[in-house]
Amino acid sequence: MLYNTLGKTGLEVSRLGFGTMRLPTFNSNDEIDTEEASKMLEYGIENGINLIDTAYPYHSKTLEGSGNSERFVGKFLAENNYRDEVYISTKSPSWAIESKNDFQMYLDEQLEKLQTDYIDIYLLHSLNVPDWEKVKNFDVLDFLDDCLSSGTVKHVGFSSHIEIDYLIEIIDEYPKWEVVMTQMNYFDEYYQSGIMGLEYLKEVNIGSMIMEPLRGGRLVNNIPQSVQDIWNMAEVKRTPVEWALQYLWNRDDVDCVLSGMTSLNQVKENIEIASKIDKISDYDGEIIREVARQYRSFVGNRCTRCGYCMPCPEGVDIINCLTEFNIANMLNDPKASAMQYFTLIDEDSRADSCIDCKKCIPFCSQMLNIPEELQRVYEYFGSEFDHF
Ligand code: SF4
Ligand code: SF4
Repeated sequence: MLYNTLGKTGLEVSRLGFGTMRLPTFNSNDEIDTEEASKMLEYGIENGINLIDTAYPYHSKTLEGSGNSERFVGKFLAENNYRDEVYISTKSPSWAIESKNDFQMYLDEQLEKLQTDYIDIYLLHSLNVPDWEKVKNFDVLDFLDDCLSSGTVKHVGFSSHIEIDYLIEIIDEYPKWEVVMTQMNYFDEYYQSGIMGLEYLKEVNIGSMIMEPLRGGRLVNNIPQSVQDIWNMAEVKRTPVEWALQYLWNRDDVDCVLSGMTSLNQVKENIEIASKIDKISDYDGEIIREVARQYRSFVGNRCTRCGYCMPCPEGVDIINCLTEFNIANMLNDPKASAMQYFTLIDEDSRADSCIDCKKCIPFCSQMLNIPEELQRVYEYFGSEFDHF
């Protein structure tokens, strides 16, 4: 295993972190196969992984309930005396906070679930601009200050799917942020805060933790032949997982890549990849960009995210509705995009809020019939997330 310093935390973390949102399960998402999951975690820790990432709702029955991932991790670490061997990263459910006292209430519950009296890295989960404003009004910064002074939390940060300008705004508002978790992989360089976000984190010495390195598996499963043909032209032959992970570890602004692993074989494969230095040549770097371009050619509509059609008088988030539909088509992964669609876009801003007034159509730089495109989005995603 190779290790990186996690920004200003100074922690030496394994460059592969163990994400616990996709542990093996039985019939439903909240029924973790603890026997198999224990084997995976044990193998991971024994082979050098020292950062385990979880969150309040992971492995719950619903999108936002109290999940079993934290319970499983806490029990596993306590029973096997691993607590001092690893750093625990978990997240406060920012969307669920409805009063000042809720921060402490959730933290207490999490400490209990995790069977520990401190959390190494505590992140505000999936911070977006409205939730950031809301939690600030509930004095979240005082709460974080108190956690740090009491030692209940060693380092604080946030995870987010926001655009670069908001990312910078939030970072600049609190000097004690030490870690930020963002989505990144070779397909998402310009999605959300993307590359620019990572560069900024490096500039201000904030540790970066990467989520979705394999885009929920879409970059490594059922590879289209046209994509495989491009990989075959590379100087060095790599598996799709190696391409995706080594792409990230070739960046000096990536500290820890979290992989939400589902089987022991995945743990073994990822650890083997994380243990070797594999410098990607300029030529192979171009191959990666060509693969990303190939995926983008499977696009569902021609929206360029220029924003000329916004704001919609009905509050429809046209850009992100069309974008999530596009990504779902590009990666042929409706479920993953549906998760983003239903969690990142407010209920009132989804495609089904379009009333077909047609006011936006003349403004579209790509001459799209926007209400028709939104109807396709609605037909594709439906009106509620039914993954569970
Ligand atoms: S057609 Fe739909 S998206 Fe366009 S302005 Fe009207 S309500 Fe908004
Ligand atoms: S104007 Fe057209 S291309 Fe631009 S963001 Fe709106 S829908 Fe997309």
